[in-house]
Amino acid sequence: MVDALAAAQVLSEIGYLLRQDPKEVFRAKAFSMAAWSLALERPDLEALHRDGKMTTLEGVGAGIGKVLAELVETGQSRYLARLREEMKQPAREDESRIDFNDYQGDIHSHTEWSDGRATMLEMAEGARALGYRYLGITDHSPRIKVVNGLDAERLVAQSREMAQVQSQVDGLTLLQGIEVDILEDGALDLPDAVLEILDVVIASPHVKLRQEPAAMTERMLRAAAHPHVDVIGHPTGRRPGSREGASYDFEAVFKEAARNGVALEIDCDPARMDLIPQDRILNFRPLDQLTDALD
Ligand SMILES: [Zn+2]
Repeated sequence: MVDALAAAQVLSEIGYLLRQDPKEVFRAKAFSMAAWSLALERPDLEALHRDGKMTTLEGVGAGIGKVLAELVETGQSRYLARLREEMKQPAREDESRIDFNDYQGDIHSHTEWSDGRATMLEMAEGARALGYRYLGITDHSPRIKVVNGLDAERLVAQSREMAQVQSQVDGLTLLQGIEVDILEDGALDLPDAVLEILDVVIASPHVKLRQEPAAMTERMLRAAAHPHVDVIGHPTGRRPGSREGASYDFEAVFKEAARNGVALEIDCDPARMDLIPQDRILNFRPLDQLTDALD
């Protein structure tokens, strides 16, 4: 007996573990995508298995279909067990699901205004359906040309649409924000006067991630000290298997962020895993210890 959400968690963990191996990036993506579609569609896996129709599910080929069939029959996945062993990952003792009841909203989201695939209204309705109380709309800033980033003028137009959308959704507060690019010298890609009036400012490094560490540290320190920044987005910019991400004095930058009440985004998308767990590569101390160490 296994329901779609529990199966999605298994596929997602397989995707996560496979991503540690650069040769398995494609297979990892396939597992992650299948996990997504199971979590969203919640199909009846028992019925599909009984009818031999597992591979009619979106993104489920023979390999993933076998894992799902085994889950339906035994509630276990030997493939996952083997990967955990190979990657020296302990089996999680607490297999219980994340409780989404206390989860009240997201502050980082993209819409068709830049590189998102849904309209603001669709995003707002989706957020309502998840029971969210707030949703931050944080599209890209103008420097990111390929994704049609927003300048001051388009932000004004966007705020008009937001007022309209807000009147169509009950019980959800829309916040207007931006994912502003951190330029090479640590300045931000929009003037202070614009950032000041937005509800949420996420500052993210997107280009020149391979800057030499001392310069990158200066760049990130400047962003973390900016008076209008609320969050540093995907702090390293890494994409396991395809892009290494920035390297800098993490402890100094995270201390500066803590000092200024700036949050660090934890991006759990398996394609990013940014920040990565403490015991890998980034050897920094947990934030509560950092805060304790501050004077
Ligand atoms: Zn970004």
